[in-house]
Amino acid sequence: MSSLAQGAIVDGGAFEQLQSSFRGELVRPDDTGYDEHRKVWNGSIDRRPVLIARCTGVADVRAAVHVAREQDLLVAVRGGGHSFPGLSVCDDGMLIDLGPMKGIRVDPGAGTVRAQAGVLLGELDRETQGFGLVVPAGIVTHTGLAGLTLGGGIGWVMRKYGLTIDQLQSVDLVTADGDFVKASEDENADLFWGVRGGGGNFGIVTNFEFRLNPLGPDVVAGPVFWPMEDAPQVLRFYRDWIADCPDELMTIVVQRRAPALPTMPPDLVGKLVVAVVACYAGPVEDGERVVRPLKNFGSPVLDLCQPKPYLAHQQMFDPSFRHGWSYYVRSCDVAVLDDEVIDIVAEHGKRIVSPISSIALWQMGGAVARVEEGATAFNGRHAGFTFNINGNSQTTDGFDRERQWAREYWSALAPHHTSVYMNFLMEEGEERVRQAYGAEKYDRLKTLKRKYDPTNFFRLNQNITPD
Ligand SMILES: Cc1cc2nc3c(=O)[nH]c(=O)nc-3n(C[C@H](O)[C@H](O)[C@H](O)COP(=O)(O)OP(=O)(O)OC[C@H]3O[C@@H](n4cnc5c(N)ncnc54)[C@H](O)[C@@H]3O)c2cc1C
Repeated sequence: MSSLAQGAIVDGGAFEQLQSSFRGELVRPDDTGYDEHRKVWNGSIDRRPVLIARCTGVADVRAAVHVAREQDLLVAVRGGGHSFPGLSVCDDGMLIDLGPMKGIRVDPGAGTVRAQAGVLLGELDRETQGFGLVVPAGIVTHTGLAGLTLGGGIGWVMRKYGLTIDQLQSVDLVTADGDFVKASEDENADLFWGVRGGGGNFGIVTNFEFRLNPLGPDVVAGPVFWPMEDAPQVLRFYRDWIADCPDELMTIVVQRRAPALPTMPPDLVGKLVVAVVACYAGPVEDGERVVRPLKNFGSPVLDLCQPKPYLAHQQMFDPSFRHGWSYYVRSCDVAVLDDEVIDIVAEHGKRIVSPISSIALWQMGGAVARVEEGATAFNGRHAGFTFNINGNSQTTDGFDRERQWAREYWSALAPHHTSVYMNFLMEEGEERVRQAYGAEKYDRLKTLKRKYDPTNFFRLNQNITPD
């Protein structure tokens, strides 16, 4: 056990040392707010760090790293706290919480935005959309920008503007030695390659700088729903419809029980449905034309695909992924939606029990696939589709059953698995991390790890070990 875990940080003066140089809040187990600040999004995770260092800036991050290092403490780093397996909180060690670091500065003239590591996606969109601009990022507004970006970042406008990392220009980073470095194409280029997909393995990113692109503010977007029993026909139509669609169109197929939301007719709530959710990142008239065949297919039970502010569309999934519920995910990429895959999807969709279990089947391609595979650490640019199979429950009751459903769905797809997106992994072991990056990139990432974090100080992540 580390000396801090034994209480020496208080007795031995290390806590006082940190306190004297720390501007943010230091929270210990007996302090008010401890339970609030140790909580992460996934309610099935319950861990108790001995100290939470709530950083307000780079100086706080460096001070926390120095003390953790001196005290030989396990460190968890938290951006938005949305790691599916709860990697951003730990038992016994120090939690370096970047949540208070909320600075965002849009420079519309330069077409760039700087965002600090505690920013959430909805906060970034609000600022950038104020200028009709966007960073391509994820689909739930309360997700952290930091963890999402460091893994790659997939979302509604990626087929038009690429992954989140494809618009990243530079980062500021605090290393395991507490040093401050910058990384971009021109400075520490090896590190810049690694942080674009390699997660938090190389240090704590304190600031991100992105290029901006025009969007909206209105877009044609939203879901069209059919009964789950129509899934085989809907998916076959869908496969053909998207085969040669423009990059502006991005779609996600969702299977779930219809949620009890104000937009849902009461008689549909709780019924098994399959939906195609679209977002057209271009002029509204073009979007209306492109989505028309989808809206006209078969007999939809509900059609909510229409012009709306992009900011409203971005919030659509928020109520389905509330903080504190129990979440479990299995994920894989597949190359094509052939009949066999479609039959698996149709069959396993029918077995959803929980009102909040769901799958998201992401259409990949477009601008994502036009960046050269070796350009960044992110792996899987040529994936056809990404599966996100979410076995969730509102309390721990029934959670085992939902996890089992997710595992069975994922296993049935095993003959079709290609890669997996690092940010959708649970704690699945080193071999899966290696699979996520592929052997060549994994070796390159290891070399980088040896250079920037040879002692594996940053190991609560999809870990790339230095040895
Ligand atoms: C509801 C939900 C929706 C999601 N939607 C999408 C989506 O649309 N697109 C997508 O690509 N992904 C999505 N994800 C996955 C998401 O990208 C990852 O869970 C990501 O890690 C979340 O980032 P965070 O900052 O909230 O995570 P955290 O839990 O805070 O951190 C995740 C990991 O990153 C490390 N980390 C965090 N901040 C830093 C930092 N500043 N420097 C170094 N390391 C850091 C942590 O130590 C941890 O290992 C979603 C996840 C959830 C739960």
